[in-house]
Amino acid sequence: MIDLYSMTREELVAFTLGMGESKFRAGQLALWLRSGTPIDEMSNLSLAFRQKLKETVTDTLPKVEEKLVSRIDGTIKYLFRLYDGECIESVFMRYEHGNTLCISSQVGCRMGCRFCASTLAGRVRNLLPSELLGQIIAAERDTGERVSNVVMMGIGEPLDNYDNVIRFLELVGSPDNLNIGYRHISLSTCGVVPGILKLAEEKYPITLSISLHATTDETRSAIMPVNNKWGIDELLQACVTYYKATGRRISFEYTLIAGRNDSIEEAKALATLLKNAFRDTGAPIHVNLIRVNAVKETGMKEGTQDSANRFADTLNRLGVVATVRRRLGSDVNAACGQLRRSRAKTE
Ligand code: SAH
Repeated sequence: MIDLYSMTREELVAFTLGMGESKFRAGQLALWLRSGTPIDEMSNLSLAFRQKLKETVTDTLPKVEEKLVSRIDGTIKYLFRLYDGECIESVFMRYEHGNTLCISSQVGCRMGCRFCASTLAGRVRNLLPSELLGQIIAAERDTGERVSNVVMMGIGEPLDNYDNVIRFLELVGSPDNLNIGYRHISLSTCGVVPGILKLAEEKYPITLSISLHATTDETRSAIMPVNNKWGIDELLQACVTYYKATGRRISFEYTLIAGRNDSIEEAKALATLLKNAFRDTGAPIHVNLIRVNAVKETGMKEGTQDSANRFADTLNRLGVVATVRRRLGSDVNAACGQLRRSRAKTE
């Protein structure tokens, strides 16, 4: 399969030369690709070249299959159709500091977190670098707006698709591609420790986000099977290594599930756990609290806004910076995995 959107500039040049075109055409082609323009509309390329392209390349750019726009805050939830018919979701959010796109990394997920809709039917396949990048290109083309921040927090586990994610990072930050600064990119993981350690050795100063969600191995293993493989201590040690290698602040996601992990005792335990792990490192850490999005099949219940605020206050009082995540797009099923799932059920 010839997949232009996954190519680096050098590869695109080699490909273009191989098609009997000049190097100059590769630059033109790259600009068209970056804007998500269909081959037929690449007007400064000859008809013959366009015809050859249509015959040889696979169009891996995700296509808008469905689009839900929040009436509350303008958040856009996309259901994208991929070249092989699979679907994924992305969420476009407007903040004061710019537009953020939350992208998927796999079709489905095999991590099995008990509260999550994306993993209920397992993993179908990894997304290609072009499909990671393509979610941004397609969203920019559809909205006519620039995406300035990217979070890998959609469907899938990015560190379970390591090589393609690394290739995507190389492309997305490249000045002759989308040129999004690495400091504006976050990668969220359920805690695949070898992936975190490998990532620490790459040169990308991205923000690492850890889905922690519990303070003891017992509680964490009960809601996140990945914890049976790599426990909390090992995970936090990997975070320290990541911080030492990159100097980037680590953020922790903590999904509050009523009666499961949201007591004040747990807030205190969380503060102790994080302070101990990062003692003497000077690492700035941040806890993002999220009230669990109830997914029918999981039976997990959300607590009140008040109890989330109390949890945050406890952490802050104990010297751990914590905020309760604002809910965007609550009227468009923005919590990931749910749109793809309801579509799969009706098909
Ligand atoms: N696999 C990666 C990234 C995708 S999940 C990871 O685990 O981090 C993105 C975030 O959404 C994670 O923090 C995940 O734990 C959280 N999440 C999943 N289902 C949720 C739900 N029903 N309610 C609230 N947060 C959820």
